[in-house]
Amino acid sequence: MSDCIFCKIAAGEIPSTKVYEDEAVLAFRDLDPQAPFHVLLIPKEHIASAAEITPENSGVVAHIFEAAAKIAREQGLEKGFRIVNNCGEDGMQSVQHLHFHMLAGQKMGWPPFPPQKEAE
Ligand code: AMP
Repeated sequence: MSDCIFCKIAAGEIPSTKVYEDEAVLAFRDLDPQAPFHVLLIPKEHIASAAEITPENSGVVAHIFEAAAKIAREQGLEKGFRIVNNCGEDGMQSVQHLHFHMLAGQKMGWPPFPPQKEAE
């Protein structure tokens, strides 16, 4: 996808701070970190969102989670981490290339959204 920012990062056309890379997956630091450790894991191939995962391309998702476990070992995240995928408009996805946020370095909050007011 020629106009996709994460495709450009995967191709090395836009700089990023890489944390992990192999033939199918890239992990790089988020520009606007929401935790002491915040990286994005992306497939190098363009998949627009989690809603576009199919039997043909789902293998890369397992590959991404393997990469996350490797990153956790390498970066000393033994206290744990959170992986988040935002999908679509309600999921507040802002970049239309599948990515997983890997957050660590503090205790996370739950739930990840403000409580909804009950309808009267
Ligand atoms: P989302 O809102 O789930 O689509 O997440 C997109 C994420 O990409 C946000 O956390 C942004 O801070 C991050 N982001 C956007 N552009 C870049 C970039 N060039 N390098 C690193 N992170 C970026």
